[in-house]
Amino acid sequence: MKNYKVPTLTIAGSDSSGGAGIQADLKTFSAIGTYGMSVITAITAQNTQGVFSVEELSKEIIKKQMEAVFDDIPPKAVKVGMVSGPEIIVEIVDSLKKYNPEYLVVDPVMISKSGYSLLRPEAKENLIKYLIPMAYIITPNTPEAEEITGIKVESIDDMKKVGQKILDMGPKFVLMKGGHLEGDAVDVLIGKDVFEIYKSERLDRKNTHGTGCTLSSSITAHLALGYDIKESVRLSKTYITEAIRYSFDIGKGVGPVHHFY
Ligand code: PLP
Repeated sequence: MKNYKVPTLTIAGSDSSGGAGIQADLKTFSAIGTYGMSVITAITAQNTQGVFSVEELSKEIIKKQMEAVFDDIPPKAVKVGMVSGPEIIVEIVDSLKKYNPEYLVVDPVMISKSGYSLLRPEAKENLIKYLIPMAYIITPNTPEAEEITGIKVESIDDMKKVGQKILDMGPKFVLMKGGHLEGDAVDVLIGKDVFEIYKSERLDRKNTHGTGCTLSSSITAHLALGYDIKESVRLSKTYITEAIRYSFDIGKGVGPVHHFY
């Protein structure tokens, strides 16, 4: 049930072409029916053809954005996407500890589909040490799960095993996204007493820019609206599948998914 007075927050990078990052998150928050807010960590110059440049914002302005949002409109659920550098992660973690939002969704963004690094190599350690353990749910795809654990993920059995390893790092739930494997798109939700498999048909679509951002912000919005974790993931899986089904050609490269199909 939509409720535009329920505040949700994304802490992430800006995508100038509007298909991923902050822009995808805010569109998703609106489509699911919440009030979206943003703390911008980095600005990317990108379009459907690639990422051309990234400029990180200072930790001071990130702290100020967090204060401004939390002091006035405390979000019910928060999503963290692109965090870019190690100092930014420390600042975000400090602020999140201070304000302690009920739900924290971490999308461990590392590399764009076009191959551009959105997380500096030296930031990986802080992501693993400080941010992942705080998460209510973390949503890695298989290459990200491999980066986090150092273990190859080539099958659904591997997804379960590596998902459990990430769960042992401290988050309450792990959603392992199997979209990079062959066959149906299978995601696995793992928690202490939770094990769910979500399967959807593989859609042969070219325009998939922003899929990861959209799925994690949909989970964030559903949690904020009061759905439990299994329902939030199930409804978000349906939302992203349909957003991919109705994705469209705009620009010269990989177009966006459709947030308002
Ligand atoms: N740009 C920003 C700012 C992002 O946060 C992300 C996603 O996580 C991307 C680009 C990558 O989008 P995609 O890999 O779907 O093209």
